[in-house]
Amino acid sequence: MGEYDVVVVGAGHAGCEAALAPARMGLSTLMLSITLEAIAMMPCNPSIGGTGKGHLVREIDALGGEMGINIDKSFIQSKMLNTAKGPAVHSLRAQADKELYHTEMKKTIENTPNLHMKQAEVMEILMENGKASGIVTRTGAIYNAKTVIIATGTFLGGRIFIGESAYDSGPNGMAVSVYLSDSLKKLGIPLRRFKTGTPARIDGKSLNYDKMIVQHGDENIVPFSFMNENTGENKIDCWLTYTNEVTHDIIRRNFHRSALFTGEIEGVGPRYCPSIETKIDRFKDKERHQLFVEPEGLSTDEMYIQGMSSSLPEDVQTAFYRSIAGLENAEIVRPAYAIEYDCINSLDLKTTLESKIIENLYFAGQTNGSSGYEEAAAQGLMAGINAALKVKGEEPFILDRSEAYIGVLIDDLVTKGTDEPYRIMTSRAEYRLLLRQDNAADRLTEKSYKIGLATEERYQRYINIKNDTEKEIARLNNTSVSPETANPFLKSIGSASIDKKETLASLLKRPQVTYDNLVEIDNERPQISYHSRVQVHVNIKYEGYIAKQLKQIEKFKKLESRRLPKDINYMELEGLRLEAREKLNAFKPDSVGQASRISGISPADINVLLVHLERMRHGGKYNL
Ligand SMILES: Cc1cc2nc3c(=O)[nH]c(=O)nc-3n(C[C@H](O)[C@H](O)[C@H](O)COP(=O)(O)OP(=O)(O)OC[C@H]3O[C@@H](n4cnc5c(N)ncnc54)[C@H](O)[C@@H]3O)c2cc1C
Repeated sequence: MGEYDVVVVGAGHAGCEAALAPARMGLSTLMLSITLEAIAMMPCNPSIGGTGKGHLVREIDALGGEMGINIDKSFIQSKMLNTAKGPAVHSLRAQADKELYHTEMKKTIENTPNLHMKQAEVMEILMENGKASGIVTRTGAIYNAKTVIIATGTFLGGRIFIGESAYDSGPNGMAVSVYLSDSLKKLGIPLRRFKTGTPARIDGKSLNYDKMIVQHGDENIVPFSFMNENTGENKIDCWLTYTNEVTHDIIRRNFHRSALFTGEIEGVGPRYCPSIETKIDRFKDKERHQLFVEPEGLSTDEMYIQGMSSSLPEDVQTAFYRSIAGLENAEIVRPAYAIEYDCINSLDLKTTLESKIIENLYFAGQTNGSSGYEEAAAQGLMAGINAALKVKGEEPFILDRSEAYIGVLIDDLVTKGTDEPYRIMTSRAEYRLLLRQDNAADRLTEKSYKIGLATEERYQRYINIKNDTEKEIARLNNTSVSPETANPFLKSIGSASIDKKETLASLLKRPQVTYDNLVEIDNERPQISYHSRVQVHVNIKYEGYIAKQLKQIEKFKKLESRRLPKDINYMELEGLRLEAREKLNAFKPDSVGQASRISGISPADINVLLVHLERMRHGGKYNL
């Protein structure tokens, strides 16, 4: 039925990015989905971004991915989180109109040259000479491919749990993926069960808004995509309410009817998105849990109750939702549920997301044991890029932990592994002051331009904004103001006065001064983009901290650049502990840096390894 360079199984957040990247790099690409209604579907929270996740979206955008552009087209409320803290954790989060998000992404897919989409359930991976070579669908269609990417999310062996009721299904009542798991197992790819859950959707007309606390979006909205300046206005509000002792009591009295506590659900759930019954069980002393009521879109009355996922029976759900202020008359339009699904062990993947077990077979998204739209999209993009580069016979594209949150995400998955759905957090990134959401283009766009993904337009925009930023930083460092000019301003913001001329940059380092309020004493200020303004502010204000972190990265890069040949027999390396030899032999790390992050490998083991490497370099057994 067809020959392709890249075939992508799945059209979720991972599948879309995994298909767009190779197509944009000029390769023939086919994306398949059990149903095309699942294209960029948001089966859980109607939002993109948030702490750590916002960073991923900016990085996906800087690399030439689609998620940032798509949410700028379909957001209905936007907020910058953590603004009271330092710039490393400032995180953009936008509420999406789910239907519009899906429609816009589908349009982009349909209008992308080299990219074909088909509705079909993939049931088998074809093999040739021990390598993946295509797929077979449930209707018997065969599509040959040089590389295959699996991004099947929560559909793979999906099973739904609502109280005592359990049945095979994908999310949102969609068809489940029945056969592919067996095909993967036959190829020797071990699968395991993870689970996640979602809250009920409530009819907005049944809510009492005056009993909840309104949550407005930001006045000044900033774009997710580097390609945008202004993206429009907030169109909706959200609301805050809380559970109470009555809610907790209803749930506690029905623990025995939750599939989670009866042991019916085997799969491991996300620690950072626990169900309400887990929260009440785990935090017994907590009097109330906060809930956000979030509209799912402009053309629906469905409301998402964030913080209230559950697998309790519907009658119990109705009772506990109606015990909450503002939800007294709540009408459930879609019940909360838990879904269990098959996923692989991410330790079976290379840093390119290619399988270590089957060549030319890549995995991305929830299937790798992660949780979240943003985590899925980031992996999809990297799998798509690396599958394309493999077809082109070019060097793989790897981002390390000092270059991107995407690098942290993938390294955590393929080097440390995960025993529960993995979500990104800023605390996972050692070098987060350098991995801010405002400098993603600086860190990544040129790299993506060089591999043929970032467009000329995006690259030129990056160069222009970079030049503007550098010029403006230089201007502030070379422009001085007199005490007469500066002191009234400094007094007005509660900052100490000056007694001699100071540069604008040195004033900007003061806690009370921002690039925005400095305009009061800065008459020469040029018009520059939002993206430049943020960078000027941060690079001057945190100059010292940034320089310190750059030093730490130099050390990290040293170990990361010590490559390890794949044919080393670690069992022969004397002085290494047996556990370390076995682990290194099983894992075959790419570098000394990666070796140091494998669980069970100690700093002492790394020192012994470095000694062996030195010996090998001076005429040892392996070519180093
Ligand atoms: C109930 C539920 C709760 C969630 N809770 C959370 C949460 O608490 N926190 C959080 O961060 N995220 C949560 N998520 C979001 C989760 O991260 C998403 O599921 C995210 O969409 C994963 O993206 P993905 O691309 O990996 O997979 P999905 O978006 O699930 O997309 C999978 C795609 O693969 C296709 N597919 C599957 N099998 C086949 C096949 N055999 N042949 C052809 N096509 C196939 C499907 O049609 C679909 O297009 C939840 C999801 C669900 C369903």
